[in-house]
Amino acid sequence: ANVFSEVPLIPGDALFALKSRYLKDTRAHKVDLGIGAYRDENGKPWILPSVKEAEKLLQQDPEFNHEYLPLNGFAPFVEAAAKVILGEDSSALKEERVASIQTLSGTGSLHLAARFIKTFYKQSETVYLSAPTWANHFPVFEVLGLKTATYSYWDDVNKSLDIENYLKDIENAPKGSIFVLHACAHNPTGLDPTRDQWIQILEAIKKNNHLPLFDSAYQGFASGNLQNDAWALQKGVEILESPILICQSFAKNAGVYGERTGAFHVVLPKNSNNTKAISSQLAAFTRSEFSNPPAYGAKVVAKILTVPELRIQWEKDLITMSQRIYKQRVALRDLLVQLDTPGNWDHIVNQQGMFSFTGLTKSQVARLETEHAIYLASNGRASVAGLNEHNVEHVAKSIDEAVR
Ligand code: PLP
Repeated sequence: ANVFSEVPLIPGDALFALKSRYLKDTRAHKVDLGIGAYRDENGKPWILPSVKEAEKLLQQDPEFNHEYLPLNGFAPFVEAAAKVILGEDSSALKEERVASIQTLSGTGSLHLAARFIKTFYKQSETVYLSAPTWANHFPVFEVLGLKTATYSYWDDVNKSLDIENYLKDIENAPKGSIFVLHACAHNPTGLDPTRDQWIQILEAIKKNNHLPLFDSAYQGFASGNLQNDAWALQKGVEILESPILICQSFAKNAGVYGERTGAFHVVLPKNSNNTKAISSQLAAFTRSEFSNPPAYGAKVVAKILTVPELRIQWEKDLITMSQRIYKQRVALRDLLVQLDTPGNWDHIVNQQGMFSFTGLTKSQVARLETEHAIYLASNGRASVAGLNEHNVEHVAKSIDEAVR
């Protein structure tokens, strides 16, 4: 007998469904502004030159093999990953108060963070997420039995940061709540706090004894500079007195999406001496869930982080990606202004990272898809990386048609 006959069918993930509609569309001029993956000037996936070189080095290495990694992951990767996010001169690293482990990319890191919180954090079970946020933030915490709530972030009227209510929400949340902060290139809005606003946010978190979790999925993608994009996180490490959780992904900034390459770091406050105990617990989580992390992406990323010539090339690749995206933002805004499209479109240029929160309504987005073969998320989020000089005019004209 089918003892699973009662299993209900649920709708598929909206973004992956968007992708499959896009793939089925036979119109030659179709444009994919859906999933957040970088595309080159011809709309094709891009293997970073630094990554290509790293792969060559691995192929030439007589010691290369496909053995299991240790539970904590590939040590050269984990160590270099901690350094790039915390900074070469990080006092937390020097004082050995960072417990780090390799994870299944950013999502796996968030999952591990959720499990760590659920198991060891007794102050609260409520995780505060920005409104709006990356859709997967909700299930990734809820699946472990944590509660989610939201804090104010996006001011829809002014297409800006609602800093006043953001700070109020930090103040009003029960002390010791968990706050997820997008380290840079906020998904979906592309809008980050200014440095002054970050300091206000961090001070409020400190004052209310909240536990901050920095989700860093786009380091180097926002400004093109790794250190700029880690500024808020490093400021947090400097001024906060609580532990800080960091979920780090190399999917986007190294373009190794499907290789599932990431890390989770727990930064402990000054004078802590239980880093080893925390590492041992993280390793036990890994062991029970997937035994040990995938090796290939970690070996590639370790090379681009640590081989000096490859590191220089990677930093150039980050500039290539972030500048191409920026140019497309400017092109789209300028075309909309030329067309005299109703509304103000400056936010497209002011936002950064992979996405633009266009402000297009659900019905306008639907019209773009059915009439113009342009695919973006129903909340109006467009992956700007999908724009290029061959399609930006079609996109601008279609937006113009849809909003009139
Ligand atoms: N966090 C945010 C804010 C993201 O946008 C993403 C990917 O879109 C992730 C985490 C995780 O990505 P991955 O699991 O591919 O590293």
